[in-house]
Amino acid sequence: KAQIDPMEYLSLYDLLTPEELDVRKAVEAFVQKEVAPKINDYVEAAQFPTEIVNAVKPLKLFHHFLNKPYGHGTSYTKQGVILMEAARADAGFATFIAVQNLLLNYTLEKFGSEAQKQKYLTKTRDIEYIGGWGLTERGYGSDASSLTANVKKVQGGYILNGDKRWIGNGNKDVLIVWARNLDTNKVEGFIVETKWPGYHAEVIQGKLALRIVQNCQITFTNIFIPDENKLESVTDFQNGPNQVLMHSRVIVPWIALGVMRGVYEHSLKWTTTRKQFGKYIASFQLQQERLVRILSTFQASFLMVVRLSRLAAEGKATIGMISSVKAWVTDKTREVARLGREMLGGDGIISDNYVIKALTDAEVLYTYEGTYDINSLVAGREITGIGAFK
Ligand code: FAD
Repeated sequence: KAQIDPMEYLSLYDLLTPEELDVRKAVEAFVQKEVAPKINDYVEAAQFPTEIVNAVKPLKLFHHFLNKPYGHGTSYTKQGVILMEAARADAGFATFIAVQNLLLNYTLEKFGSEAQKQKYLTKTRDIEYIGGWGLTERGYGSDASSLTANVKKVQGGYILNGDKRWIGNGNKDVLIVWARNLDTNKVEGFIVETKWPGYHAEVIQGKLALRIVQNCQITFTNIFIPDENKLESVTDFQNGPNQVLMHSRVIVPWIALGVMRGVYEHSLKWTTTRKQFGKYIASFQLQQERLVRILSTFQASFLMVVRLSRLAAEGKATIGMISSVKAWVTDKTREVARLGREMLGGDGIISDNYVIKALTDAEVLYTYEGTYDINSLVAGREITGIGAFK
């Protein structure tokens, strides 16, 4: 009798359009068959799941993240349900999809020329190329707009120097690099191929969250970037990386929803099959309170995230709204993950039982795309009119 589907319980499916429902269902079927049973081998080995990613290719899944003519047409909510379903199996797998689509492909779609779209976007969309998006540096994380990777204009192109840190997929095929033009002091964007001389990426070792994502420390040493690889319509940090983050931060909380849902499902299943003191542990009052708290937190977060996604689609979501939802939902995900882990006892630290992954992965959701603190301060600035940071 267990109420396994937390969406059905409050009729949350009614908030999705027929197209969003269809896409969600198709992705759920794929993820539960092809990803969930296999991903933890890669998680334990901290390896990129090449075979699983290859299995995604025939689905043309990434077309859902692009408008016509390059994609099927999109909405924030449609992109969101795809990431939610991916994260129910593994937040690292969802993050891989997010990096390639919300960051790399969105940047190419928004700022790329037709020639750049033909050359790169058609390949990154079809997963012939895998790529990343490089903003953060060793010395500049929250203070990303002070970045120091730099380009100098030369005949026919630019010379790139500097470093980037934490860059997901930074050791694959292509990378969007945000760098300061030494002549204008403005942040500009470039499409860099990782095979070019002077590109060096090291996968960051010892990372105990989002295990399958290959986050890299990258150094650029006198890399020549041809003129045609500059994103000409980027004018500065605001009309460049910040626009991309305004977009991705609307959708990243859907990954958190997937994690909460995954925790709920695994906890409910466990507590209704595991017996102690001769009874299912779900019969104990303390466990029931935890389950209901997880359920309600998921549902409240879902309502907030759907509302934000719809407002963003109407062009009515402000930077403060986006930041506050991202901060709140990812904070709640930490709480949900901890509750789920408690409920599974010792088995709660086994990767196949999901909740330990949720616990560590939630730490990254809380930190990347702007930390909880920074997103709170962005919202705080908007509601008070007083900036607490630069
Ligand atoms: P810091 O900025 O050093 O912050 C440390 C602490 O200080 C935090 O608690 C922070 O909230 C707090 N703090 C800082 N400034 C203030 C302030 N003014 N007021 C109050 N508190 C403050 N970046 C990319 O460009 N591309 C990627 O693909 C990418 N993927 C990532 C994947 C992972 C797994 C991780 C961990 C990070 C990734 N990042 C990526 C980088 C991520 O966006 C940064 O880690 C994040 O912005 C925080 O920067 P930082 O780690 O340097 O922390």
